[in-house]
Amino acid sequence: MAQLVMLAGKDRSLARRHPWIFATAVERLSGRARPGDTVDVVAANGRPLAKAAWSPESKIRARVWTFDADEVVDDAFFKRRVQAAVERRGMLPELRGQDGLRLIHGESDGLPGVIADRYGDTVVLQLTATGPEKWRRAIISALHRASACARIYERSDSGVRRLEGLDPVTGWAYGEASPEPLAIVENGVRLRVDIVAGHKTGFYLDQRDNRVLTRVLAAGRATLNCFCYSGAFSLQALAGGASSVLSIDSSGPALAMAAENLALNPHLDANRAEWREADVFNELRALNDQGRRFDLIILDPPKFAPSAVHAERAARAYRDINVFGFRLLNPGGLLMSYSCSGGISGEHFQQILAEAALGAGREARILRRLGASPDHPVALNFSEGEYLKGLLCQVE
Ligand code: SAH
Repeated sequence: MAQLVMLAGKDRSLARRHPWIFATAVERLSGRARPGDTVDVVAANGRPLAKAAWSPESKIRARVWTFDADEVVDDAFFKRRVQAAVERRGMLPELRGQDGLRLIHGESDGLPGVIADRYGDTVVLQLTATGPEKWRRAIISALHRASACARIYERSDSGVRRLEGLDPVTGWAYGEASPEPLAIVENGVRLRVDIVAGHKTGFYLDQRDNRVLTRVLAAGRATLNCFCYSGAFSLQALAGGASSVLSIDSSGPALAMAAENLALNPHLDANRAEWREADVFNELRALNDQGRRFDLIILDPPKFAPSAVHAERAARAYRDINVFGFRLLNPGGLLMSYSCSGGISGEHFQQILAEAALGAGREARILRRLGASPDHPVALNFSEGEYLKGLLCQVE
């Protein structure tokens, strides 16, 4: 097995068990390794540190599979890790019996570059690095066994694969499409999941708990849901008795799916729902010009800052939409505002919201900090920026 020799003094983050080895920390590769091959990671003095997947084209030159230098990375290894991840989801009562559930959350489950989401009896797998690419068969077989799913669809078409020198891979990895369109029930609301053409693996599971909260808060409130995608927040607001729900997204296909989702839930009052295909930045301004006001506003934008280099521009974008978020609220109104930008820390996000409230001329307080649902566990040694963060604020 080839050896990845770390530069002297550059193995501190490894000692803290952060699984990424950046190119700038690597002294050399001794021996030959192809992309995805497992390499022995050793300190400059030769001390064994870990086993990792080699990724010659990426700035993240290797991702650690195990910090036990004696552990063998083979089919059985993936069987153990996948099984453990799936069992973890069974531990928390609120995750039991969920129809839509993230089964594997990459680094947090000890499987860097592997995402697996379960929608009913279908699992969608996304591989984003050379290591998982090499172990695809082992991962699929372990996933099938651990989840007892009927079929596995691969959605390895995330843009980050390019950084690894990998082409997109999509298609049925196990079994074949069900004749029925795929749908899940989330907190009493039926939702279509487009695993082939939808965003990510088809749905934003990390917001499940926050949608439950929305349902509770929406009672009697005029609600505005910005960046609504397939309407999951909007439908929970309707289910919770919102007096009206205006939902905005710039994607026609997303809104088409939202309309389909509303039709799947005849118990919801469709007359209270309005869908608008528009750019949120423009539409918030227009709503303000029209003097429209709301009692609950949800802002769940896409990642404005994938990494720290985009932080400044992203901060401006977050500030812009949140100024309008605060401005468009009636007295006592609630703003649920989110960021999933790796480049923006929780503290930074709070500061942006403080500035936004000031910009809107509103007094506000934080009622609750919001994060991702527990099927998206948090790796202890990752920065909080890597994960979904949100604030529930109330204006005076
Ligand atoms: N809240 C959703 C997920 C939002 S994902 C849920 O719970 O399912 C982000 C959404 O923002 C996507 O649907 C994308 O189409 C939309 N979007 C991105 N930029 C936008 C813009 N400038 N204006 C309106 N929508 C935008």
